[in-house]
Amino acid sequence: MAKQGLLLIISGPSGVGKTTITHEVERRLGAVFSVSVTTRAPAAGDVDGQDYYFIDRTQFETMRAAGDLLEWAEVFGNCYGTPRKPVEQAIAAGQVMILEIDVQGAIQIKKLIPQTLAIFVPHPSEEVLLQRLRRRQREDEATIQRRFAKAKDEIALAKTCRAYDHFIVNDKLDAAVDEAITLVQNARR
Ligand code: 5GP
Repeated sequence: MAKQGLLLIISGPSGVGKTTITHEVERRLGAVFSVSVTTRAPAAGDVDGQDYYFIDRTQFETMRAAGDLLEWAEVFGNCYGTPRKPVEQAIAAGQVMILEIDVQGAIQIKKLIPQTLAIFVPHPSEEVLLQRLRRRQREDEATIQRRFAKAKDEIALAKTCRAYDHFIVNDKLDAAVDEAITLVQNARR
């Protein structure tokens, strides 16, 4: 029997390891990553077309107005959105498609496609989160503090908004990955 397509949302503050979990789900289940469009500037190591499609505000507005985005949100003054077509194609082909998006996006998708599996990866503790944000050495202290504040707001919203089916605390990466894989397998049955 053909496998059922599934939309999988993985959200969480920066620095909790959600990208690592995402990559493992891709590798072990042959899942596809939804490449978002964003108006933010590429960071060091970002690959255009792989991590994001980097576009300007006008291009973003054109896509949004044409209905080409399944959901979109503004985060830290930049716009992010999920291109609609690749998601529809992946689901029709019976694939698992991963959306690494924020809480605002998850709320929109769950309304639109309630059978989506939505997982939130909170930080194990505030101390650990700060440590991880600093260890990435990608940003200056002011940006780290902004991300830290946003992370705390985001987790509070994630807990109350009812969009998430599961919360996986990533204190042991292997266990977190296994848990995510099991949830996806159960959702596809
Ligand atoms: P970053 O700039 O650190 O890559 O991402 C900032 C935030 O935007 C993260 O929480 C990330 O999950 C979220 N994000 C990335 N792409 C999308 C998207 O297409 N839609 C929404 N709603 N959020 C996104």
